[in-house]
Amino acid sequence: MKLRKQVTVCGGAIFCVAVFSLYLMLDRVQHDPGRRHGGVSFPRNQISVLQNRIEQLEQLLEENHQIVNHIKDSVLELTGNADAHPGLLALQGNGSWVLPTDNHQTFLSVFPQDCQFALWNKEQNTDLQMLDVYSALKFDNVDGGAWKQGFEITYEQHEWDNEPLQVFVVPHSHNDPGWIKTFDKYYFDQTQHILNNMLLKLQEDTKRRFIWAEISFFSKWWDNIDAQKKAAVRRLAAEGQLEFVTGGWVMTDEANSHYFAMVDQLIEGHQWLENNIGVIPKSGWAIDPFGHSSTMSYLLKRSNLTSMLIQRVHYSIKKHFAANKILEFMWRQTWDTDSSTDIFCHLMPFYSYDVPHTCGPDPKTCCQFDFRRLPGGRISCPWKVPPKVINDANVAERASLLLDQYRKKSKLFKSKVVLIPLGDDFRYDKALEWDQQFQNYEKLFNYMNSHPDLHVQIQFGSLSEYFDAVYKANGVSPGSKPPSYPVLSGDFFTYADREDHYWSGYFTSRPFYKNLDRVLESHLRAAEILYSLALNHVRRTGVGIRYPVSDYRFLTEARRNIGLFQHHDAITGTSKEVVVVDYGLRLFHSLMNLKRVIINAAHFLVLQSKNDYKYDESSLFLQLDDRRQTHDTLPEKTVIKLESLPRYVVVFNPIEQDRLCVISVLTTTPRVKVTLIDGSNLPTQISAVWKSPTDMATDAYQVSFVARLPALGLAVFQLSETFTAPVNSNVAIYLRNRDVTVSKKEPFSVKILESSINDFFIENQHMQVWFNGVTGLMENIKRKDDQQEQKVRTEFVWYGTRTFKDKSGAYLFLPDGEARAYISKQTPITRITQGPLFSEVISFYRHFHQIIRLYNLPGAEGLSLDVSIVVDIHDQVNRELAMRLSTGIESGDMFFTDLNAFQVTPSKIQPRKYFQKLPLQANFYPMPAMAYIQDNHSRLTIHTAQSLGVSSLRSGQLEIILDRRLMQDDNRGLGQGLKDNKLTCNRFRILLERRVTSNKLSLGSLFQGLDVVNVQPTALSLLYPAKPSNNSLVFLKPMEISTFRIRMV
Ligand SMILES: [Zn+2]
Repeated sequence: MKLRKQVTVCGGAIFCVAVFSLYLMLDRVQHDPGRRHGGVSFPRNQISVLQNRIEQLEQLLEENHQIVNHIKDSVLELTGNADAHPGLLALQGNGSWVLPTDNHQTFLSVFPQDCQFALWNKEQNTDLQMLDVYSALKFDNVDGGAWKQGFEITYEQHEWDNEPLQVFVVPHSHNDPGWIKTFDKYYFDQTQHILNNMLLKLQEDTKRRFIWAEISFFSKWWDNIDAQKKAAVRRLAAEGQLEFVTGGWVMTDEANSHYFAMVDQLIEGHQWLENNIGVIPKSGWAIDPFGHSSTMSYLLKRSNLTSMLIQRVHYSIKKHFAANKILEFMWRQTWDTDSSTDIFCHLMPFYSYDVPHTCGPDPKTCCQFDFRRLPGGRISCPWKVPPKVINDANVAERASLLLDQYRKKSKLFKSKVVLIPLGDDFRYDKALEWDQQFQNYEKLFNYMNSHPDLHVQIQFGSLSEYFDAVYKANGVSPGSKPPSYPVLSGDFFTYADREDHYWSGYFTSRPFYKNLDRVLESHLRAAEILYSLALNHVRRTGVGIRYPVSDYRFLTEARRNIGLFQHHDAITGTSKEVVVVDYGLRLFHSLMNLKRVIINAAHFLVLQSKNDYKYDESSLFLQLDDRRQTHDTLPEKTVIKLESLPRYVVVFNPIEQDRLCVISVLTTTPRVKVTLIDGSNLPTQISAVWKSPTDMATDAYQVSFVARLPALGLAVFQLSETFTAPVNSNVAIYLRNRDVTVSKKEPFSVKILESSINDFFIENQHMQVWFNGVTGLMENIKRKDDQQEQKVRTEFVWYGTRTFKDKSGAYLFLPDGEARAYISKQTPITRITQGPLFSEVISFYRHFHQIIRLYNLPGAEGLSLDVSIVVDIHDQVNRELAMRLSTGIESGDMFFTDLNAFQVTPSKIQPRKYFQKLPLQANFYPMPAMAYIQDNHSRLTIHTAQSLGVSSLRSGQLEIILDRRLMQDDNRGLGQGLKDNKLTCNRFRILLERRVTSNKLSLGSLFQGLDVVNVQPTALSLLYPAKPSNNSLVFLKPMEISTFRIRMV
């Protein structure tokens, strides 16, 4: 293990990944006469430039006032308690640090106008709440006969006499943008042929239809066809023969993806469609994501779609909904007390989206109507009854057999309109298949339509044609609620497709890339904002000629690469190893380019005189504070060489709030002072850098300082050598009788505890955090304003996988029972660093090391614990490593998780519940941003910087799966296990809050008198380290999509 790397990256700071600190390259610039102006030596000139930088920024920000305000208006401004710069702290004789009192209240009043939404006293009025459905269902999996997971469907012959059955057969081809093959390989082997044939075959008959979802593929094909074909595509789309459904860049995963990226890929696809085809999608089509989130239904609604379709929902729920004819419903957001977020949703009733499971309840029959499976072809029917070519002799019998299935399917819905998808993965790639499907179905249609006694109207249809017919049959306008249809709220996790096969493994599979995805998202946001600010300036001042305006292409490319990664086999960690590498390289490539965009924009923005701006592609003016060697390694921090001349650090805060935080950088000397441009000193802490648990580096030092960063602004700090003694942190190392030597050096004091097993603590002005002297892991937290100490014990546990039948794989979590304690053969070494700005404890185990850092800052930064866990389980076989937090909180069977970092499911609205009646693996849920447990007195929240699987298996517990190494495929088509584990750094914030029940403005069920100020900034700081994340929206009625992005037109 490359310990140095881990320590610098994870142990160093929370800002390890996405702090956009840039160093002015003074050494190099000084020798570059081209960068001197007016005879003034560079540094001085540069300082005066920088001195005026804040004014410049204010001016610039003023110009962007509207945008900023727009965003600001949409979020709760709850960071007001973090205003003060803490003073320098002194070391007492007894070795402890004197902590300043924080006069700022840790509670911030929430005014009614801050949260109108929370004050609504109206109860939500829905017919179906998914948690209630879960509570009511038995999940007994009774054999339903031909429809194994359902029941026998019967009907009367004359049911359609007055109102005929309307059948819409919708041809589709599900194209995964990467899974078994890479995106490009799929394109070249299959997708381009599918689309080429589509163009030919749709034009042969205007009655033919085809729907397409994945714009990533479509745009690639578009770039390769001529103008005549483009015109034909536009014509087919305009005439409704070709319908674009959802219209996202991909069919996004709905469990792990962050709503920033979900929105982004949707915008990317919709803009592409509007610009190139001139269409706007009306209907959503999500047949393959492994569980469905209400974030997606909200985004589709806000994107003006009127209807949507979902498929992968727990078979017991499908059966229940089918039995009650509620497979079509209005999907409402849990926070919505009227109906403004309602969208019409169709849930497909059967097991799969392939032909055997879409024509009706009996797959053996339906398979006979998948004419790709005609004898002699590459695929056949597993039910051993092959399709027959339709001819005059058999058409009556075939039509009757098929109509029986259609009628049975229609009995599961309220209207007499039935949707029959006709397709599968990468279908219609050969001209023959188009002919087989279209020609045989056309014969069946002709027969049925020409026999009035059958009372059926059947045709090829687009998805929207089906929905429109349903609306029409119900006498309502498109998108409106038909009178008898139910309203549903909640989500559709955790998915099971059969037996106890719950798809909760993919909530954690390949956590390295789940983290890298978020790193990219934060870089994209920063790059977009800085580029926009710079470009605005360029346009206003007219010095644009020298500015690399073409950087915009990197932004577009990054959006598309991140968009691609939201695909339901990408961020989910469910593609083949070679495809994972392809995604990784795309993300890595865009990360490099985004850094370049950030550097170019920041360089331009920090110059006082824009005329001095000189863009040199080969030699960038600034450098970033970390770099990755490859797509699958953790970043390393840049070491700033500090000699006689000062160096400058530019820090960008890409969130729309000021923030006070600790910034850590590495330098070549421990004698460093950090000053603002006005010359005032900032509080600093110098800490050792370690190459291993006990081996101190001799060539690098960590300098941490407290910085106040303006909203969406750049701040400049000067680093210079000082001859006054800086404030160093102290180190204590628990060796626990291990025979290792500790290398230490000046100026740090290192206390070696050879055999001590005494519990110890670190503290700040808000709390003490106690650790177990034997394990080095957290035991409890004692808030200084609370007499009661709270148990928050960290444990690590292993899950195994079953030894018989189906085993865990990339999708499935099939554990061999409860988790077993992680037992370490060697006692761990624990290293404790204590200083005025932060203290941290690192415990080193063979398969992980845990870093817990406590900042000594006012506000949320000081009230939460910054936790990084570096995991390496590549030597394990069929094991999954989990972190378990055990507390005294009496949470019972309730816990709470967010959806796509967009909506937490607050108490009484949509909590999660541990169900005894379900197997262990069914009780795990996705955790894209946070999870919490609570009782009347406390709430423990864990915020996460990457999506992982979470559960609460016992009262007071939260458990997170950190990584999984699985040797086998789990029979869902991937054909591989998960064996490419990387050294992964999972990052969290843990926040323990008191709940207050009196003398506070009551905000209904939403905040429950909670110390809300602490929740939001903590979550924010994980996605946008030097600035926080997205969770500002968690408790709010989310912003309109138009405000999410500052985008160039
Ligand atoms: Zn798929």
